[in-house]
Amino acid sequence: VMDIKSRKTAHSPEEAKNLFHCVPRLPDRLPPILAVLDGIYTLERGPAFDGRVHRSNILVASSDVLSADMVGARIMGHEPRDIPILANAAANRNRPSDLSDIEVVGESIENVASYHEYDFAYHEDDQRCVPVPLARDGITGLFYRKYDETMCTYCASMNGLILSAIRYAWKGEPWDRVEVLTGKKMTPTPGMNKTILVGKCMYQKNRDNPNIKEMIPIKGCPPNPKTILKALHQAGIDADPMLFENIDQLPGFFMSRYEGKPEFDESFFQVS
Ligand code: SF4
Repeated sequence: VMDIKSRKTAHSPEEAKNLFHCVPRLPDRLPPILAVLDGIYTLERGPAFDGRVHRSNILVASSDVLSADMVGARIMGHEPRDIPILANAAANRNRPSDLSDIEVVGESIENVASYHEYDFAYHEDDQRCVPVPLARDGITGLFYRKYDETMCTYCASMNGLILSAIRYAWKGEPWDRVEVLTGKKMTPTPGMNKTILVGKCMYQKNRDNPNIKEMIPIKGCPPNPKTILKALHQAGIDADPMLFENIDQLPGFFMSRYEGKPEFDESFFQVS
């Protein structure tokens, strides 16, 4: 388990030290281990509850963590060479990323592979920049820039909450050209009326930026839910306080997707 300081370091905005550079080096510090990928349930568009879960009944195990990850990637329909973390890890070890040096025993990859989406598509035009489902709802006047690799775990855990709160707050009236910036390297767009800076990193980077007309900072690290709610209200987005007071209940909003499906029977998730 990585501590907070290491997580922040691994999401550096500097290219030479960024996520794709740091994560491939993690196994270098590990003693010999057995790597197990638990794919009994697999998650499309993870890693949080807003992804879509599938019952896949797959386990992958290897004494080599990179081999396990490369096999796992192909099972989910992605070539390791297309995933920078795996491609860099293979290159660091002078290994091919096409699985040609890996012996797979048990089920063949082809028999169990199924494509899993990983990306959250965004819609961008001159009226908005939002995830596609929010664009389908008709949201305009909001420019919630797409996350990048510099947003670390603690801001990321708030991101889904903020987007859900925004979606529930939409009443069909365009918002006032509100831009929301996250992570460590985004910069304000000229022509916005309000700019929400999520997290200490965004505040420190952009607090003096002349392109900001009205700055709404959320300075914490990680950002405090109450401050986020206040910022949304200041931007004219009437987010429901209940969502921020009962964060632990938010995953429940997504559970109806699995209702009545035998492969998600509640008894599988109870400890007796
Ligand atoms: S403010 Fe957010 S992005 Fe910056 S270090 Fe803290 S959690 Fe990470």
